[in-house]
Amino acid sequence: MIIVLFGKPGAGKGTQAPLLAAALGVPTLATGDELRAAIRNDTPLGREAKGYMDRGDLVPDSVILGIIKQALGEPRTAKGVVLDGVVRTVPQADGLANAVKELGKQVDAVLVFDIDDDEIVRRLASRTVCEKCQTPYTGREPGTTCDKCGGKLVRRKDDEPEAIRNRLAVYQKQTAPVLDWYKKQGTKVATIDAVGDVKDVTTRALSALGA
Ligand SMILES: [Zn+2]
Repeated sequence: MIIVLFGKPGAGKGTQAPLLAAALGVPTLATGDELRAAIRNDTPLGREAKGYMDRGDLVPDSVILGIIKQALGEPRTAKGVVLDGVVRTVPQADGLANAVKELGKQVDAVLVFDIDDDEIVRRLASRTVCEKCQTPYTGREPGTTCDKCGGKLVRRKDDEPEAIRNRLAVYQKQTAPVLDWYKKQGTKVATIDAVGDVKDVTTRALSALGA
């Protein structure tokens, strides 16, 4: 079973990916991890990727896809895999579809972890971090004092409401065409309500998969 995950920033996709994979008894596969492993193991594609990185260039989709395809052909992913952050654009979705087809497999489902934008803004805006020791806090006002070191708590620029709305708009613009593309291919696309207890969200995702 090959599952592709999407989620708005702040919707908890990164938390859900390993929980879902554990429940299904399959590994998660993330582009960054596979890329680092290919470089560490000095595979031909790993060497090619490193060449781009050493020159300060982005590793092209074709090389990334090759590395992912290799991982999808290995015994560790024979039972299935949860792909986290591997597909972000339509060309990447198309490339992945071709790669898995060549392996005699298919993407079985796309899960989208979704939360109302206002809730995400509320959630992320309630995060503060100590400017001295970097301890994160939830539900503490900027300007209050760190329990650990007495430093001042501040809100990250990234977590300011305006910055969050901007990130959400970028996500929407990038992701909507990809989800449409999957629907046109006849792939199951399930939206999971990601509000509430972490365990409940995992349960909802599993039931959407019929697992
Ligand atoms: Zn502190």
